[in-house]
Amino acid sequence: MLNKEIRFARRPAGMPTVDSFNIADTEVPQLNDGEVLVRTLYISVDPYLRGRMREGRSYVPPFEVGEVIVSGVVGEVVESRAPEFAPGEIVTGMLGWRLCNAARAPELRKVDPRVAPVTTALGVLGMPGLTAYFGLLDIGNPKEGETVVVSGAAGAVGMTVCQIAKIKGCRVVGIAGSDEKNQYLTAELGVDAAINYKSPEMSRALREACPKGIDVYFDNVGGEVSDAVFPLLKHGARVVICGQISLYCLDKPDIGPRPQTYLLINSALMKGFIITEYAARFAEGVVNLTQWLVAGKLKYAETVVEGFENTPQAFIGLFSGDNLGKQLVKVA
Ligand code: NDP
Repeated sequence: MLNKEIRFARRPAGMPTVDSFNIADTEVPQLNDGEVLVRTLYISVDPYLRGRMREGRSYVPPFEVGEVIVSGVVGEVVESRAPEFAPGEIVTGMLGWRLCNAARAPELRKVDPRVAPVTTALGVLGMPGLTAYFGLLDIGNPKEGETVVVSGAAGAVGMTVCQIAKIKGCRVVGIAGSDEKNQYLTAELGVDAAINYKSPEMSRALREACPKGIDVYFDNVGGEVSDAVFPLLKHGARVVICGQISLYCLDKPDIGPRPQTYLLINSALMKGFIITEYAARFAEGVVNLTQWLVAGKLKYAETVVEGFENTPQAFIGLFSGDNLGKQLVKVA
C-alpha cells in the first residue's frame, strides 16, 4: 500500500502559502510491539500550527524544515500490535499528516461512533471544545445575567464558548468576520447579538450590544477587535486570552493601545492559558460537553475540505475565515 505525507517545506513570511508544504510518497510503516497502524479518516487543521512554523520560543517547539506536520487526526485501526486496540476501531491522537501512521498505543484514545459522529473528536468533543469549556468556565467564570463577549465567535472554539455562556444564563455577544456567520450565531445558536468586525461601525455596534458593559471577554483574535472591547470592560471583568489569530502571521510585534489602564481601573483580570494544562480534567470536560450535545443544548458546525492533498489549503483558509465552525479535511 502506498503512503503519502505532508512535510513542512519552508518557513512562511506573513500568511502561509501552499509552498510552505510539500507532499511526498513514502512507505507504510512496519509496526513494532505496542504500536498500531492507523488509516487517517479526518485531519484537524488548527491556527496554532502557524506558531510552530516560526522559529523561537513558544509552548511547543517549532517544526523543523523537512519534518512531517503533526495535528489532531481521527483514523481507523487497520493493524494492531497493541492488545488495547483491534482493527476496525476508531481512534484519535496527535499524528502526522499521512495517509497511514504507526502510533504507540498510549498516544491514542478510542472514539465511540455511537455517541456522536467521529469528527466531533476533533471539534466540539475534542481540543477546541475543551478549550472553550475550561477557558470560559475556569478563567471567565461567567455568572447568570452577565455579559460575555466572544471574538472569533463563529469558529470551533468560539461557537462552543458562545453556547456554554448561554447555558450559564449569560447575555452573549459574538464577534465574527461575516454577516452570514453572524446570522448563524444569532439564528442557530441563540447568541443575543453578533457583530461583524470588518464593519467600520464595529465599536459603536459593540457599545450598543453591551449597554451594561462587558463582564467576560473570551478573546480568540486579539488586535483591533480587542482594542474595541477593552474600553467596555466592567468592574471585576475577566479577560480570557485563548488565541490571538490576527497576530499569528505578523512578522513584527503588534503595536496598539495598551490594555493595562482598563484592567487597573476595573480591577479586571486578564489570563492566558494553554489547554494541555487542563489535561488532568479532560474527562470532566468531555462528559459535560457530551451531555449538552446529546441534550441538544450544544450544537456544532464543521467545514470539511475533501482530499488529503488539500490539507495545506484548508489550513491556510483559517486565516481568511473560510471556515464556519471546525475546519476539517476528509481524507478517506
Ligand atoms: P477557528 O475555527 O476559530 O478558525 C479561525 C478563525 O479565526 C477564522 O475562521 C476567522 O474567522 C478568524 N480569523 C482569522 N484571521 C483573523 C483576523 N485577522 N482577525 C480576526 N479573526 C480572524 O479556530 P479555532 O477555534 O481552532 O481557534 C480559535 C482561537 O483559539 C485561535 O486563536 C487559536 O489559536 C486559539 N486556540 C487556543 C488554544 C489554547 O490552548 N489556548 C487551543 C485551541 C485554539 P472570521 O471569519 O470571523 O474572521
